[in-house]
Amino acid sequence: MAQDPSKELTTEAAFAQPVPLGEPAPRGSLQARVAWGTRVVTVGGDAPVRVQSMTNTDTVDVIGTAIQVKELALAGSELVRLTVNTPEAAQAVPAIREQLDRMGIDVPLIGDFHYNGHTLLTDFPACAAALSKYRINPGNVGKGDKRDRQFGQMIEAALRHDKPVRIGVNWGSLDQVLLAQLMDENNRRAQPWDARQVMYEALIQSALDSAAQAVELGMDPAQVLISCKVSGVQDLVAVYQELARRCRYPLHLGLTEAGMGTKGTVASAAALAVLLQQGIGDTIRVSLTPQPGEARTQEVVVALEILQALGLRSFVPSVTACPGCGRTTSTTFQELAKQIDDYLRAQMPVWRAQYPGVEAMKVAVMGCIVNGPGESKHADIGISLPGTGEVPAAPVFIDGEKALTLRGDGIASEFQRIVERYVERRFGSATPESAG
Ligand code: SF4
Repeated sequence: MAQDPSKELTTEAAFAQPVPLGEPAPRGSLQARVAWGTRVVTVGGDAPVRVQSMTNTDTVDVIGTAIQVKELALAGSELVRLTVNTPEAAQAVPAIREQLDRMGIDVPLIGDFHYNGHTLLTDFPACAAALSKYRINPGNVGKGDKRDRQFGQMIEAALRHDKPVRIGVNWGSLDQVLLAQLMDENNRRAQPWDARQVMYEALIQSALDSAAQAVELGMDPAQVLISCKVSGVQDLVAVYQELARRCRYPLHLGLTEAGMGTKGTVASAAALAVLLQQGIGDTIRVSLTPQPGEARTQEVVVALEILQALGLRSFVPSVTACPGCGRTTSTTFQELAKQIDDYLRAQMPVWRAQYPGVEAMKVAVMGCIVNGPGESKHADIGISLPGTGEVPAAPVFIDGEKALTLRGDGIASEFQRIVERYVERRFGSATPESAG
């Protein structure tokens, strides 16, 4: 008979052990080095989970592409991939690299190759040298006996120029010969697997077989990254859990064709959170389809937010705000929360260098007395605004203590000044002064 769980909780034994701390499992992957000039971005091992993105400009447009790479890098992308699909695009790559160097943009470029990568990397050595990593899709390298030869040519280019590669499998361009072979084998099983499980196996085998081939040709296993992208959340979780079980190659993680807006954001966050919590994933990309008028940098913003929400990295001070309810019918606290959030984000390009550690600061903007003081005390600095019918006063809490109370029409601007002084005092090297 099943035990009554409520009884288990009341026993002494249940309280003898603390609830385990919420933290991600350690990652156990090898570490790749993505280098350009004397600069290096490490991926995997003990490196933080890296954020990457991809341009959607025509690579032949050197200035347009360099500007978008700059925008992505300034938004927080630590690696930027671009399409290299034609001889003209390959010729443009060194010029894009030079333009970025002139602009002082420190970010490595990754070349995305399909079908003709073997030719482009061989015929345009300056492109091969200017890129810091090559993405190879084993499903698009070539058919029949050409496949191994053309794959080998790409690996030879990587070895010649000392570059890491990503073996990037995608279920939209999965090796159809391998899939058909696994389907045939499955049909001969006494109890055939679900077709989705065969597809998982084909994705994983395609990546691992190609990675093993690259290593046989001389690649250092740490310089071989792997990805197996699918567009379903549960499929991605299943495939990456198995991939992580079977290899130690650094893993590039992302949901392919995640979609637009809220749907794409939520699907990416759901999939990546499950895996990152298990220590799976060394670099992430959020493949959002930009909505009309939306900046390409949105995919970087979402990736940063996912890592920050999981406590894996800090990029910008976080603002905790309550959702509001019938206790606060005015929009004051929503406006203040937005104003403070916008202000903190706008300050970060300067603060990052001036106030090291400020990115981990927590600010609370709360709507009423129910959770306001409590949540504000948990933050570094917080304000509890008056709810409907409450005394029109807003206590401010600094480092867990009530520091002062704001009243009147200037609460928003006064609170912003208090935050600014707190940042100077806590994170600056200037003479400490009262934040209040
Ligand atoms: S803190 Fe107050 S206003 Fe905000 S959600 Fe809770 S009860 Fe509502």
